[in-house]
Amino acid sequence: AENGNGSVKEGFKMPEIKYTKLFINGEFVDAASGKEFETRDPRTGDVIVNVAEADKVDVDLAVKAAREAFDHGPWPRMSGYERGRILHKYADLIEQHIEELAALDGIDAGKLFEFGKAVDIPGAVRMLRYYASAADKIHGETLKLTTAHQGYTLKEPIGVVGVIIPWNFPSMMFFLKVSPALAAGCTVVVKPAEQTPLSALFYAKLAKEAGIPDGALNVVNGFGPTAGAALTSHMDVDNISFTGSPEIGSVIMQSAATSNLKTVSLELGGKSPMIIFDDANLDMAVGLASAAVFFNKGEICVAGSRVYVQDGIYDEFVKKVIECAKGWVVGDPFDPKVNMGPQVDKVQYERVLKYIEYGKRDGATLLTGGKPCGDKGYYIEPTIFADVKEDMKIAQDEIFGPVMSLIKFKTIEEAIERANCTKYGLAAGILTNDINIANRVSRSVRAGTVWINCYFVFDADAPFGGYKMSGFGRDQGMNAIEKYLQVKSVITPI
Ligand code: NAD
Repeated sequence: AENGNGSVKEGFKMPEIKYTKLFINGEFVDAASGKEFETRDPRTGDVIVNVAEADKVDVDLAVKAAREAFDHGPWPRMSGYERGRILHKYADLIEQHIEELAALDGIDAGKLFEFGKAVDIPGAVRMLRYYASAADKIHGETLKLTTAHQGYTLKEPIGVVGVIIPWNFPSMMFFLKVSPALAAGCTVVVKPAEQTPLSALFYAKLAKEAGIPDGALNVVNGFGPTAGAALTSHMDVDNISFTGSPEIGSVIMQSAATSNLKTVSLELGGKSPMIIFDDANLDMAVGLASAAVFFNKGEICVAGSRVYVQDGIYDEFVKKVIECAKGWVVGDPFDPKVNMGPQVDKVQYERVLKYIEYGKRDGATLLTGGKPCGDKGYYIEPTIFADVKEDMKIAQDEIFGPVMSLIKFKTIEEAIERANCTKYGLAAGILTNDINIANRVSRSVRAGTVWINCYFVFDADAPFGGYKMSGFGRDQGMNAIEKYLQVKSVITPI
């Protein structure tokens, strides 16, 4: 009742929201313009709190602080071991606040609170610790030169990194980018998504407490065309690490190209296929296929939104998957019985409903769901369409909502051909017990990650990124540190 819904676990108290200003040079400050914007609770559409709104002037101040911290401050100059020690302390502090952080992402993004506690925040910590432990293992190599010289390479931090992230995993996204950049010795300016500003500010506060020097990590909440654009076009930013839509990815690349030729990495959208063969374990297939598109209310870049099912099990699969979808409990993400919360905001909610209309208009068969639910907030039923053709909008566009498109196929060749029939290439799922099919399809599918008999396994050590219009560059894994490093050759006569 304390939260206005009566269904949350007894004893749970929503945390007080303490940090709403910009974090620049180690201090929480108001925007220079004094402007603020509202962040809303998707369970009700009500305003949670006002947050300071950065524009060009504030981004300039944040970049200036990051530049100074990079050019003259201790962060890039201390040993990798020392940086790693501080980053591990940062991880310890986050672990002490898991519940508060999961609650902030819960009210800001409509994410499941219990899942946030068990997966999102611990996953962010895991990412941070992985790179904290890598900070003292960055080194160049000895060169075998072809002339009478000897030489070696140094790997040096690239400089000031601008991080621009979306709203669907506010905590994971933050640490996916910030952890390797800081471990490399870079200084960072983060622009979180305008829908989800709250947890990033808490992370800024904990960074200071952990001993990350002033200016090494700055957070400037604000909107894309103002704060985001100021960061991507800034002459003193050396790299942009972006996750978001292909449309904005393209804008960012142009901005980088026409300013100072900063490097960029783009993690963009997806329309990932889940390919289920006749020999797959049917119950596992039904569970995984549902989770692959309904988890996080479908607001996930790797959502397995196109489900290809082989004709031998198609009819039975359809019966079971409808049952399964009906079993998903949609409701308040703070209620432990619920497994699907609201869409992040009104724009996203209306967009998903529009796509459901496109599906009906284009002749797909609506098997279940398709309607909003609840008397307030942005809830949508788990929705399944059958008889989907690759030329339909629902099979080509990223919906970013709980909408599954079912497609029947006969042969392996057909499955591969149709699975690749998209401009995206982020992920794919393959469900089969035949190792030869699994190997063949995983080599033929053009996607940055292939999950065989599993889905959504994100591991700090597994490079993650896209083929085709899903972007370029990889997060996670040791390779990700390379994005934030430069190689310098040092040569002397023998
Ligand atoms: P978006 O591209 O609209 O926004 C992402 C970020 O870019 C936000 O912080 C936004 O403020 C900022 N932005 C917007 N305009 C900008 C501009 N002109 N200059 C600089 N920054 C700008 O995406 P979204 O709607 O917030 O997120 C959904 C998209 O993100 C989907 O396409 C989804 O697939 C993608 N995504 C990809 C991954 C991945 O790892 N590949 C992960 C999560 C989400």
